This record gives sequence, structure tokens and C-alpha cells, in this order.
Amino acid sequence: MPYQTLYRIWRPRRFAEIVGQGHVVRTLQNAVTTGRVAHAYLFCGPRGTGKTSAAKVLAKAVNCTNRAGAEPCDTCSSCVAIAAGTALDVLEIDAASNRGVDEVRELREKVKFRPATGGFKVYIVDEVHMLTNEAFNALLKTLEEPPEHVIFVLATTEPHKLPLTIVSRCQRFDFRRIGKPELVARLEEVSARAGLLVEPGVFDLIARVADGSLRDALGILDQAAALGENRITLADLHSLLGTVAGEVLERLVGHLVSGETGAALLLLREVEAGGKELRIFARELTDYLRRLLMDAFNGDKPAAALPGLRRDDLIELLTLFARAEQEMRLATRQIIPLELAVVTAAQKLRPAPEAPGKAVCPGRAKAPEAERVWASVLAEFRRQNPPVGPWLARAEPVFDGPHKLVLAFREELAKEKVAAPENKVMLEKILNRYFPGGMRVVCVLSREQGEP
Ligand SMILES: [Zn+2]
Repeated sequence: MPYQTLYRIWRPRRFAEIVGQGHVVRTLQNAVTTGRVAHAYLFCGPRGTGKTSAAKVLAKAVNCTNRAGAEPCDTCSSCVAIAAGTALDVLEIDAASNRGVDEVRELREKVKFRPATGGFKVYIVDEVHMLTNEAFNALLKTLEEPPEHVIFVLATTEPHKLPLTIVSRCQRFDFRRIGKPELVARLEEVSARAGLLVEPGVFDLIARVADGSLRDALGILDQAAALGENRITLADLHSLLGTVAGEVLERLVGHLVSGETGAALLLLREVEAGGKELRIFARELTDYLRRLLMDAFNGDKPAAALPGLRRDDLIELLTLFARAEQEMRLATRQIIPLELAVVTAAQKLRPAPEAPGKAVCPGRAKAPEAERVWASVLAEFRRQNPPVGPWLARAEPVFDGPHKLVLAFREELAKEKVAAPENKVMLEKILNRYFPGGMRVVCVLSREQGEP
């Protein structure tokens, strides 16, 4: 038996199996049970949301000899033939592949003959907006006066490209992107039945990347299962999808918060050079920022690894990168909108360098702004110097005027570590990004505080 993809195996066979399109399904079921099926339907919506599957279920339902309510039996000869794609009265035209000229011409000639089985002829035209003008005109002629025994189902991802004369003759249904919980639930169900071993986090990642498309989600599951011989790990999935681990996203945001534009741009180029799809990366980044923002509004502490990050920063970053993601759809070089977002973010988040006196409160009081700057400096220092970072974290920072930072330590050892010349220079270099006028660091033991 030839290998069948999960999507084919789990393709909905009944109305009840169509995921996430309750509004469409209920209306179609009613039409079938009351015998009020329209002559032309227009199914609009993103790819992989079940448009052609719903069309086939409808075709089965109107021709099934053994229907239960609105549901086709899936076992009679008509149902079996339609499912196998061999039914004479159900014709699928893929306008994307050949633009439909010959098929529509043939359709026009044959449409007037009654169906062989005495039920309905169903014409399913996928990606109907791709039809040539000639084919459109031919289709329109038949739509103007459709014979009693014919049902058209036109499916498209881009309804705005259809002539109004076509749209106005159809009953329109909008298929929506399938929600993440529904995708995850379906993935879980399919994996359990297929006997796949799946690491935690895998379904979430697939659902995120599939972006509302069940077909894409099952396609990814299929590839991942084949790659890992029915065992799916997060690491394999990342390399398959070209996604990046959360740690990379965290690093990028960390660079932005601490104003390291150069490092952030470099990281972007590394992601690109690593063969990752930048649009997927952009989506992951906005998802990540969105999660952080939700956490911030839920009162959770900001991400532990990003101590300098405030709620306002998150709103700023999310706005910038959501716009970049949008602009990438039209960009010829995908990296440019991302780079622009990084540069803009650096300008907006970084404390104004021309006014250091405003950025931190001079004197010994610790303003929130000073705390924020210190958090960023500390985060950056920890990144550059992991062994000494924890020692620096023990210091009590006091900005003593615009050019002097006093670090008060309780332990001699901590003071010695940070005050070592190479460490002090590193710290001052980081501080200089925030205080272009220069910032001198003085390390003291707590009891000495207040001395020079
Ligand atoms: Zn049947």
C-alpha cells in the first residue's frame, strides 16, 4: 500500500469532522437536510482551512443514497467514488495549475446533461481567482442559468480578485484560520492514533508556524515523524522548520533593550545565514514579544533573563516588529524591514544619550529610570562576563552626579572581583553607551559608602 500523508488519512469525511468552521458547517448541514442547497457557493479563506474538504463532503452529502441527517454514509458507492476522486458527476478543477480553460469549456458542454446517477453534478473549482478571463466568462454563462441538477463550489484564498458578477451569483462562506487550541487538539488526536512519540512543546510550535492551516500543521507533523522515525523532538522540529530556539529570540530582545544595535543586527544576519526563513523568524519574534506582553499584563514578573525590559518597551517592540512582519510580505529583501525595526527600536528604547542628567536622577536617590538603566547595564555585563556578573549583581548602585557611579558591596570578595581593572573597564565601556559624557565607577564596601 502506498504511503499516505497524515493529511490525506485524516481528511474530514463528514461535516462533523471539519475542524474550526462551525458557522459554515451548520449552514451547509441545514441546507442539505431541508433540501435547500444553493446552485453556487463561494468558499473563501486562507489555505488549509478546509474549503475543498467541505466541498467534497457537500458533494457526498447531496449524492449519498444512505444519508443520516446531513451526514454522508461514506460507504455507499457514490460516497466511495467521490472520496477516491473517480466519481463521474463530481469534477474538481484546479485553476491554479492550468488556469481552467479546457475544463471550463468542457464543463459548459457537459453541464446540461443530467448526472449519471440521478443526483447532483458538483463542480469544485479550486483557486477560482486564477481562472483566465476566457474561462471566467464561460463560467459566468453557466452561473447565470445553472441547470437544476448542478452545484458549483468555487474556492479561493483571494476573493477580492474575483469579478463581482461571479461573487454576486454565489452564496458566500468565509472560512476562518483555525485557532491554536483547535489545531493542537487535532494534532494530539492524530499523533495518538498514529502512535507517534512527541516531546512537549512540539504541538505548540507546529500550531504556531502553521498559522491557522490544518493542512500545513499535519504536513509538518508528517515530515517530522518521517525524520525522527515516529519520534518527534523539539530540536528536530526546529531544524526542519527553520525556526529558532527561544534563546535566540531572548538574546535579540536583550540586545535591543540594552541598546546594542550592532549586536542585534549581527544576530539577524546570523539567523539569515543559518538558512532560516526570515518571515518565520519574524513571526516567532512577534509571538514571543506578545507572550512577554501578556505576562506583563497578567502581573507576572518580566522575563527573568531580561531584567531591563518594561511593559512600555514591549508595546513599542511589538508594534515595530508586527509592522516589519507585515512589510516583509511585500519586501524583495526580507531582512530589510527587520533591520529597520531593529534600528528604530534602538532609537526608541535607549535612554536619550544627549540628556544623561535626565536619564538618571542625579544625587543619591534611585529613580525608576536609574533602576532601569542599571538593569540593562547589569544584563549586558552578565552577558559579556558570565563569571563576574553575579558579583556585580550584589552591588548597590548609586549614581552620584552625572559622571560617577558608586557601587557599594557588602562583601570584600565581590568588591575585589568587580574592581579588578579589566572588569571595571568593561563596565565603564557599557556605561558609556548610556552616558556619552563618561561614567566613572567607584567600588566601595558598604561601610565606606559616602567616602570619595
Ligand atoms: Zn453515502
